[in-house]
Amino acid sequence: MAEIDILLNGFRKFRELYYQKSPNLYRDLIRHGQNPRFAVLACSDARVDPAIVLQTEPGDIFAVRNVAALVPPFEEDGLYHGTSAALEFAVRELHVEHVIIIGHAHCGGVAAMIRKQEGGEDIGAGEGKFIGAWTDLLRGAHERALADNPELKGDALLSASERQAVRLSLDNLSTFPFIREAVAAGKLSLQGWYLNIFDGALEIWDPDSENFRQVS
Ligand SMILES: [Zn+2]
Repeated sequence: MAEIDILLNGFRKFRELYYQKSPNLYRDLIRHGQNPRFAVLACSDARVDPAIVLQTEPGDIFAVRNVAALVPPFEEDGLYHGTSAALEFAVRELHVEHVIIIGHAHCGGVAAMIRKQEGGEDIGAGEGKFIGAWTDLLRGAHERALADNPELKGDALLSASERQAVRLSLDNLSTFPFIREAVAAGKLSLQGWYLNIFDGALEIWDPDSENFRQVS
């Protein structure tokens, strides 16, 4: 079977499930428009698709995916901010009630940032133009992980940095005025989650105890 047939067969299954067995689902979503209550920011990593991990239905989540599930800080430079544009649409137009950052274990984006911080080679060094600049936004996560425990290295440093990256993205969410306003008005909650793809475990950041708590 040609590799592309895997996708075409997937589409045929989707068509059977969502059009032939539930013909009104998409008709209603078109008639009434999308009305997701959740905006989810996840990594582009092929193993952490939020619709699969969270078992959602069409229309449930407004998904944004990028390298390392990273929220950049609010910047008004008139340039090309895809993630910020998606957040703006989700909060200001769709009025989602929750923005959820989903970081994950063994994240190549966070690992690349650490490698660069430790003096190693940047991904695509020489030819690459974008990954290093993007993951540099995560340097603060590496610094926070080491500030908590200067002895960290290897996998322990990576997983601590990945969790700190979720917190950094939460902090960056609050630099957007429209997000701050929606949170202050009690219309929006911000959540930071950490998915351990090896153990099939999910942790949720609890700002009160300042800990990630595992979902039972
Ligand atoms: Zn990742």
